[in-house]
Amino acid sequence: MSTPSNDKLRALLNWIDATGIVKQPAFAGMNIQPLIDAREFLERYDENQGDEARRKAIIELARNEVHPCSDDFNIDNNAELSEGDDNGTWVSAWVWVSFAGTPFDKDSTCSDCGDKVPSIIGCPDGAEICQACFDAGRH
Ligand SMILES: [Zn+2]
Repeated sequence: MSTPSNDKLRALLNWIDATGIVKQPAFAGMNIQPLIDAREFLERYDENQGDEARRKAIIELARNEVHPCSDDFNIDNNAELSEGDDNGTWVSAWVWVSFAGTPFDKDSTCSDCGDKVPSIIGCPDGAEICQACFDAGRH
């Protein structure tokens, strides 16, 4: 990927190289550090673009090869990669963990039918029932 401003900078530096203008006697002793900095900036930019393209390709690989059909498994676009010397890399991911039936369960139990439901309706007689039982006219 390139940007218009980087393309213009690249074109300018190429033009400066092509003309050999900085080697002219009139430029002797002038500070050309900004030109050196600009070239280094473009080199770093190109390296970063290459790294980013590689990172995105690895994330796509992870998405396609590990649980591609599961809604319970997600990888962010900015997922962290932890790559060492082995032939692969760790990719940070989100894995859904259900609380159903665990001490962390957030659902309530309908006192009438016993179903586990996300929300419960409190009745005047103190019963706490699910929407289905409420709609059925119980309590
Ligand atoms: Zn119920």
